[in-house]
Amino acid sequence: MAHRVTLIPGDGIGPELTEATRRVLEATGAEFDWDVQQAGADVMDEHGGNPLPEPVLASIRENGVALKGPITTPVGGGFRSVNVTLRKALDLYAQVRPCKSYAGVRSRFDDVDLVVIRENTEDLYAGIEYEEGTGAAEELIEWIERQGGSLRHRDAGISIKPLSITGSRRIVQFAFEYARRNGRRKVTAVHKANIMKFTDGLYLRVAREVGEENADVEFDDRIVDNMSMQLVQRPEEYDVLVCPNLYGDIVSDLCAGMIGGLGMAPGANFGEGIAIFEPTHGSAPKYAGQNKANPMAQMLSGVMMLRYLEETDAALRLEEAIAEVIREGTSVTYDMKPSRDDPTAVGTSQVADAIIDKLGVRV
Ligand code: NAD
Repeated sequence: MAHRVTLIPGDGIGPELTEATRRVLEATGAEFDWDVQQAGADVMDEHGGNPLPEPVLASIRENGVALKGPITTPVGGGFRSVNVTLRKALDLYAQVRPCKSYAGVRSRFDDVDLVVIRENTEDLYAGIEYEEGTGAAEELIEWIERQGGSLRHRDAGISIKPLSITGSRRIVQFAFEYARRNGRRKVTAVHKANIMKFTDGLYLRVAREVGEENADVEFDDRIVDNMSMQLVQRPEEYDVLVCPNLYGDIVSDLCAGMIGGLGMAPGANFGEGIAIFEPTHGSAPKYAGQNKANPMAQMLSGVMMLRYLEETDAALRLEEAIAEVIREGTSVTYDMKPSRDDPTAVGTSQVADAIIDKLGVRV
């Protein structure tokens, strides 16, 4: 039976990447019944200014699985991130970002195989923010002062960082279950508990408790700054990294840089009975509509989706076909060539053609 999947093309380079991905997914022989849904700035006027219309959420809730392209967020004003809103609305608390080296990718590192698991709903991304100079910010500062706290400068904007026992427990437990399901040997909790004792300190305490309850998988922890250094010095010592929201965002981009850049970094967001597959990168508006962007991160997110849908053989064949195209180094986009203006670079859709050719040989 065909898999009913919500397909959100997104904006910027999203529509080109999701189209290329849809083609290679179908070429595996797995069957899909796509429910195409639009979100983002381009459709908000049709929906009373809402960039995340209700039918999009309803479709994902009904189908339980979505493949999503990136969606632009205005910087420093305008609407809140559709991506963050989506994760919150559907309680997609766990983001999984595997970072794996493929032979032929230009990088300072080879043989990286890390998985970053990021808590998606709490931390400084909770959206609890007070603008500098507003009554609410003033009131909050006064309240803080009454509690004995002090701010160096009173003209401050304030973002609140909640980390709960419940949220920390479920993300760390998720990381152990992921490790066990995927034959991983170790989970490392990433934190800054030496400085933020009531948030990161709580996170670390809970992570250690969960670690003891899952003693069949090795557990350790690292302070985030030390973690960043160690990842570039000896990445082979690490395996699954479980992080609160902000560190997870940053550390996963660091790891993406180690495996050839954002064009190679897939991802997925999981909640109870819902999964959305999307690359780590954004909508790269400067490349929109140019058939130039690398579709591999979006396609590798598609590979993750195939595994989730238990299309294990299709997942394996698609990943191998992608790996072969990378290894050959001919039908790849500009970012995978030795120089960024290499005239032999191909476009997004030609990468899909090359992968489909490889799948054809194998079918
Ligand atoms: P970005 O990831 O879109 O782009 C940064 C740079 O990385 C690009 O200029 C480009 O050089 C390169 N790049 C990214 N993806 C690439 C690809 N597939 N192929 C080749 N090169 C690629 O990050 P940004 O510029 O910080 O963000 C642009 C927009 O995307 C913002 O509005 C941001 O909020 C949004 N965003 C969305 C998501 C999401 O939808 N999940 C994630 C991150 C950022």
